[in-house]
Amino acid sequence: MAVDPKPKNSGAAILEAVRRAARQEQFLEVVSAAEARRRFEVCIDRSPLGGESQPLAAALARVLAADVIAPVDAPPFDRSNVDGFAVRAADTVGASDGAPKRLSLNPEVIACGVAPIVEVAPGTATAIATGGVVPRGADAVVMIEHTELIDDDPPAIELRRTAASGQFISYAGSDIARGETLLRRGTQIGSREIGTLAACGLAAVDVVRRPRVAVLSTGDELIEPGRPLRPGGVYDSNGAILAAAIVEAGGEPVPFGAFPDEEVALESAMRGALDCCDIVVLSGGTSKGAGDLSHRIVSRLGPPGIVVHGVALKPGKPLCLAVIGDKPLIVLPGFPTSAIFTFHAFVAPVIRARAGLPPEAAKTVTARVPVRIASELGREEFVLVSLVAGSDGLIAFPTGKGSGAVTAFSQADGFLAIDALAAALDADSSAAVTLIGETERAPDLVIMGSHDIALDVVVGSLAERGFSARTIAVGSMGGVAAASRGECDLAPVHLVDPATGVYNKHLVGPGLALVPGWRRMQGFVFRDGDARFAGMTADAALKAALADSAILMVNRNVGSGTRVLIDGLLRGARPAGYANQPRSHNAVAAAIAQGRADWGIAIAPVAKLYGLAFLAVAPEHYDFLLREARRERPAVQAFLDVLRDEATRGRIRALGMEPADQSSI
Ligand code: AMP
Ligand code: MG
Repeated sequence: MAVDPKPKNSGAAILEAVRRAARQEQFLEVVSAAEARRRFEVCIDRSPLGGESQPLAAALARVLAADVIAPVDAPPFDRSNVDGFAVRAADTVGASDGAPKRLSLNPEVIACGVAPIVEVAPGTATAIATGGVVPRGADAVVMIEHTELIDDDPPAIELRRTAASGQFISYAGSDIARGETLLRRGTQIGSREIGTLAACGLAAVDVVRRPRVAVLSTGDELIEPGRPLRPGGVYDSNGAILAAAIVEAGGEPVPFGAFPDEEVALESAMRGALDCCDIVVLSGGTSKGAGDLSHRIVSRLGPPGIVVHGVALKPGKPLCLAVIGDKPLIVLPGFPTSAIFTFHAFVAPVIRARAGLPPEAAKTVTARVPVRIASELGREEFVLVSLVAGSDGLIAFPTGKGSGAVTAFSQADGFLAIDALAAALDADSSAAVTLIGETERAPDLVIMGSHDIALDVVVGSLAERGFSARTIAVGSMGGVAAASRGECDLAPVHLVDPATGVYNKHLVGPGLALVPGWRRMQGFVFRDGDARFAGMTADAALKAALADSAILMVNRNVGSGTRVLIDGLLRGARPAGYANQPRSHNAVAAAIAQGRADWGIAIAPVAKLYGLAFLAVAPEHYDFLLREARRERPAVQAFLDVLRDEATRGRIRALGMEPADQSSI
């Protein structure tokens, strides 16, 4: 349900806003992805746009609009390939060490770029440089190394071997022949093509005009990157990623910026975009409910209008495909991952076609999926995955971030599809993974478990030593499972054994060892200047918090080490806010900083990052489970080495953590 965000003061206005949101304008008709594509494509022109002349310097990556016919020969004349003498081959017949042939030298030295004057008459030779024009009369060149200079008047040379006709000559047009088709229409221009064009003396070339694609974002909450974020605001990331993806697809983005959900202004911007661009891409304002204004505007922009509104696809259901006049207009869902996914599926192919580029060939690999992935019945679901190399082939892990995540797409190696009729993909299934990047990148080291900012320092030090590491944040328990199954080299964990109060030791299973990492101080966190806790010890602050029912806490998720600590501190108390259980230190700090809660337990570096006050309570141990079988691998050894490295330990300390004693590893 999308609730109208504008402030409502009267009870009646609030009720009306909620009712409107709940009314949920229905999608016209939800169709399959294949049917959506078919309906869209019959309504649009996918042929390459017309040509325009571009100077060579601006032609890189463009597509040739017409065949290029060579206007000249290359080389333009018969050219010597060596430093030596231009001769008549017939004069050299029979030359040998025993019977050298003598040729008198003509009064000319043919340097590069000079037109020869003197004809090579029988019995004569002319000195010529590499690249020089072979003179009239000559039909071969002999290398200077194979001749003897005779200091006579006139000077002469002696030859000791026979030269074949044509020896060391590149004939005019042997490289490029005037009139031949040099480059074909539809070729994408690279540096080699630019070299070929320049060799024929061409300074400009006809290329397919790049489709101009308008990019608009809509949402009252959107803020342009570079400006301060206000409460409730989010940065307009779709505008930037779509503009870049348009360039990658061969188009020319025309950024219009972000618009509030305001019908009149948005409609006029869309009309303006249709006037000056070939394609219009808008993101946001697509979901059901009061926010569903984009398609309302599109429906009155002109015929043929909306072709598809609603696709049985996840992510991407609220996609709206329209054609206004002869121009495609696409409304992408607002959620960043949905937006970029549907862009690649429905918009990029159209831009490529109009830019004259061939369809992008999908590269797929087969991988085992070790975990079960639940899926919604009735919608084809695409799941972004990270790939790691297992002992018997590739393993694909769902990246676990929802379609609202900006990084889900950028951090994934590829995606797999779950059929609309399947309720899940079973654990240990084999799946075809469509790669997103150029190639599958196999990292030297795979680290799966809980994430920590100091881990970024360690990975950075590893990179300086030439080892790449892939970190996949699956939480401590996910890391334990992955390490036990042998799907990673190392699993960062920070879980306390409630029975003993000891961190991480209870997680060590068969084939695993514990490598100490660093200690993170956990403490009582509150807003700096909150008089209710000012000047207190952690104990006193906790007592004060529990004594006042107006003070709201923010808890942590069950299973986290911090939650065990919190429950120990609370001794059965259930203060207001206890039910709010986010999954990370950052979420706890954000809730307190933004006033949605007054206190919580988080680690010192995170409290500092959010400008919060911190009262130390107890250290948390962040350690690594290591697959013993992989200990000897160079990347693992380098990792252990980095943990001992004083420079790296200094950087970890600077973040507010205390590196553990490494003398045991
Ligand atoms: P909507 O399609 O407008 O209902 O938006 C769905 C979600 O996507 C909301 O959480 C929006 O804040 C978010 N969103 C919409 N547009 C953008 C954008 N341009 N950049 C980042 N997030 C966006
Ligand atoms: Mg919106």
